[in-house]
Amino acid sequence: MTAKSRTSTYKFKAEISQLLEIITHSIYTNREIFLRELISNASDALDKLRFETSRGTDVIAPETELEIRITVDKDAKKLIITDTGVGMSREDIVTNIGTIAHSGSAEFIKSVAEAKDAGNIIGKFGVGFYSVFMVAKEVAVTSKSYVKDEPAVVWTSDGSGNFKVRDAEGDVPRGTKIEVFLKDEAEEFADTDRIKSIIKKHSSFISFPIYVEDEKTNTIPAL
Ligand code: ADP
Ligand code: MG
Repeated sequence: MTAKSRTSTYKFKAEISQLLEIITHSIYTNREIFLRELISNASDALDKLRFETSRGTDVIAPETELEIRITVDKDAKKLIITDTGVGMSREDIVTNIGTIAHSGSAEFIKSVAEAKDAGNIIGKFGVGFYSVFMVAKEVAVTSKSYVKDEPAVVWTSDGSGNFKVRDAEGDVPRGTKIEVFLKDEAEEFADTDRIKSIIKKHSSFISFPIYVEDEKTNTIPAL
């Protein structure tokens, strides 16, 4: 790693570490809901972009379509979710993913201690982004903020205690790309048919197009 990439290592906030400890070491019946959480975040980011545009804020690449794209790499056991939403600056990403505990996480930790199947509880509480660690051994989030002159950043973690943030290389489009490196026992999610059926089941009310390998999978509800 070159010095230019400005790599920094951070510790997850204690409460998040505890949450991740539970998430990475539990057995689930309902792991597929991680996708609902990632799509919901992508949709929120697109909503925020649309809001900023509508109130006249200067956004980079204003002509870029507002959309969510999912691709899989079966051989690499990898799933990629991208959106063209607001993205995150370095400061945003450190704060939003790793530092601020989700409002439901304390309650989640308490409930999970009393239950046997954390998967259903995660579904109920929606612990958000961190639910990806039910299926991921490693996650890389590459993000480019809608704010002009903010360098693109890459956040990486294996969900165990620390995360790293560095500058991204090359030309990164506005928005966020989540690369999910699947655990061996979660390779079923590197499958487009499986992904499409999960979207149908859990993300049918998303108001932005969701493409799976270039095929549009949802009908946008009329406003
Ligand atoms: P919540 O969605 O309830 O706020 P999450 O754990 O799902 O909690 O996400 C934490 C935060 O990370 C979000 O509030 C948002 O600020 C940021 N974030 C996550 N995914 C994205 C994304 N695709 N684009 C922009 N910001 C994101
Ligand atoms: Mg969320």
